[in-house]
Amino acid sequence: MGRAAGVSVEDRIVDPARVVDALRELRALTGDAHGAQRLAWTPTWARAREWLRDRLGGSPVVVDLDEAGNLWATLPGQRPDSLVIGSHLDSIPQGGWLDGCLGVLAGAEVLRALAARGTPAVTLKLVDWADEEGVRFGGQSMYGSATVAGALDPESLVAARDSDGVRFADAARAFGVDLAAASRSRARLADVRSYLELHIEQGPVLEGLGLPLGVVTGAVGIERHALRLQGMAGHAGSTPMSARHDALCAGAAIALEARALAVGLDGRATTGEMTVQPGLATVIPRTVDMTVDLRHERPDVLADLLAQTRDAAARIAEQEAVSLSMREVLQIAPTAFDESLIGLAADVVAELTERPAHLMPTGALHDAAQLAGAGVPAVMLFVRSRGGISHSPAEDTDPQDLELAVKALANLVERVLRRL
Ligand SMILES: [Zn+2]
Repeated sequence: MGRAAGVSVEDRIVDPARVVDALRELRALTGDAHGAQRLAWTPTWARAREWLRDRLGGSPVVVDLDEAGNLWATLPGQRPDSLVIGSHLDSIPQGGWLDGCLGVLAGAEVLRALAARGTPAVTLKLVDWADEEGVRFGGQSMYGSATVAGALDPESLVAARDSDGVRFADAARAFGVDLAAASRSRARLADVRSYLELHIEQGPVLEGLGLPLGVVTGAVGIERHALRLQGMAGHAGSTPMSARHDALCAGAAIALEARALAVGLDGRATTGEMTVQPGLATVIPRTVDMTVDLRHERPDVLADLLAQTRDAAARIAEQEAVSLSMREVLQIAPTAFDESLIGLAADVVAELTERPAHLMPTGALHDAAQLAGAGVPAVMLFVRSRGGISHSPAEDTDPQDLELAVKALANLVERVLRRL
């Protein structure tokens, strides 16, 4: 009989409405009129995690923290091989009510239902990654998953401070985390065979297509470069148009050309920063410092986009008679999710929506990409975001969509378990 004795049939079935109720409860507990306030390493974040521990308490799962501060709930199976479901409870200040916690609470519901059925063949784990948002201490996103994945040396963050001067090392210590020992958490990956993550899309694509769910094929790579254009200052009235070395006209042309190239290659190009010197209405711009951020999910196309942008920038600089220097600021390789998991996820989504599944890359950073980067077969499900809005108190998703997303995750877990 085992632990399933005395458990009703309903207990063994995933109940998506419970997840929506739980999300509302968490919002009431850890949010205010300005949105979600579950900033990592704060008492509100701790309250959210305590609440999650309480919810998990009824089922036969073992809850513990790893050395990096990630919270794990483990349902031991007949084998140590594990299927991991993850996301994050932490939020930015004044964040949305669904970002991250949808995936955690949906995973908790799946774990609860499977625990009611008795000991599974393989071990099931739910992980709440610590400090996914990374907004408090120097912008290190995905601290917890990157540490477990071996992509981040947490000791490099010891001296990082928040805006109140609190050291990351001290804030973490208050949660029982010693940054010098945090990389020992890598051992948690040893038996992981698959990683699944459900997340809100945080963009407008699914809504635009009229689809509630999407399957994520990978995370885009990033090539971010800083450009300096050096021209010559001159009088706005007395310098003929043919005799100018206008750094701003060159910079503007480069921004427009990068955009056109990105459109042509189905990528992204953004010039988000541009400063002009001397910055006076009557002086021809002498110096422009600008960034170009290029993104694509395929490494070859991203390289092509960068090469073409470089060529265009050099050509435009020459035409405008200014000098150009370009240096790399950030480079993140694209991460592809697992093809067979993508296939299973697409089947699940197609069945639930009675339409072919939409496959899409994610432009936002997610913990799943860290796991995939460490060689763990991973896939993500996206659920549509109302108006594409996220990282805002206006972030929302229809309850029917949320319930469908929970069903999709539950069905995907069943499919993957059957194969492990
Ligand atoms: Zn998130």
